[in-house]
Amino acid sequence: MLNEKEFERYSRQILSESIGEEGQQKLSKIKILQIGTGGLGSPCALYLTAAGIGELRIIDNDTVSVSNLQRQILYSEADVGQEKVKVAKERLSSLNSSVNIKAYKDYVDDESIKKYINDIDFLIDCSDNMKTKFLVNRTGIQNNIRTVIAGIKDFYGQILTINPKESACYQCVFSEPEEEDDSESPLPVIGVTAGVLGTLEALEVIKTVLGLPNLENQLLMVNLLNMTFNKIKVIKDENCFCYCME
Ligand SMILES: [Zn+2]
Repeated sequence: MLNEKEFERYSRQILSESIGEEGQQKLSKIKILQIGTGGLGSPCALYLTAAGIGELRIIDNDTVSVSNLQRQILYSEADVGQEKVKVAKERLSSLNSSVNIKAYKDYVDDESIKKYINDIDFLIDCSDNMKTKFLVNRTGIQNNIRTVIAGIKDFYGQILTINPKESACYQCVFSEPEEEDDSESPLPVIGVTAGVLGTLEALEVIKTVLGLPNLENQLLMVNLLNMTFNKIKVIKDENCFCYCME
C-alpha cells in the first residue's frame, strides 16, 4: 500500500491508466543497475529517481570535467574535479530520499560488474563506448537480466531493449569491434541528443516493468536533425551467443 505522501508525490503518474496505484507499487520495488552517469546516465537516473523506483545502483569511474557540463545535467560548475558518482548520489538523494541510491566508483569489466548485479531487475547501459555496451549486453544475457542499451552520436541515437530469452540482443544487431580501441577520439554529441536517449532509456525500464509496449525486437533509430523516429524490426540471430543461452 502506498502511504499518503507517496500518493501525493506520484499523483500525476498514478492518474495514468497505464500506471495507477498498482503500477506505482511495482515501480517502488524495482532495483536497477545503471552503468555510466554521463550524458545518457544523467537524465536516465534523474527520471528513474523522480518516478520512485526502489533502488538505483550507479557505477562510474570518472570525475566531472568542464566539457561534461554541456550535456551531463547531473553536474554543476562547482562539481568540476569531483567524483561523478559522489555528486550524482547527493543530487539524486536530494531529489527523492525514498529511493535507495548506491554509488560505486569503479571501472566496469566482465569481472567487476558481477559485484553489482545481485538481485537486480534491470540493467541499463549509459556508457559512451561500444566495448562497454557489448559487455553490458553479455552480462544481461548470461545472468538473465532485462537490459536497455542506447548509443548516441551528434544528432543521432539508437536504443534497444533486451529480454534475454525472448528477444534479439545487442550483439544480434551490431557486430562487436574487432580490436580494443582505447584511443577512440571523442564523438560529437548534441546535449539534447543525450537528454532524449537517456530519457527514453528510463522510459523503457518503466514501461517494461509495467508490461507496457517496449522496444524488444525493435531498434529505435532517432534522428533529431530531421526529427524522425524509426523502428526497425530485429530478430534473434541463430548464430549469436545469446541464441542457445536457455
Ligand atoms: Zn544475440
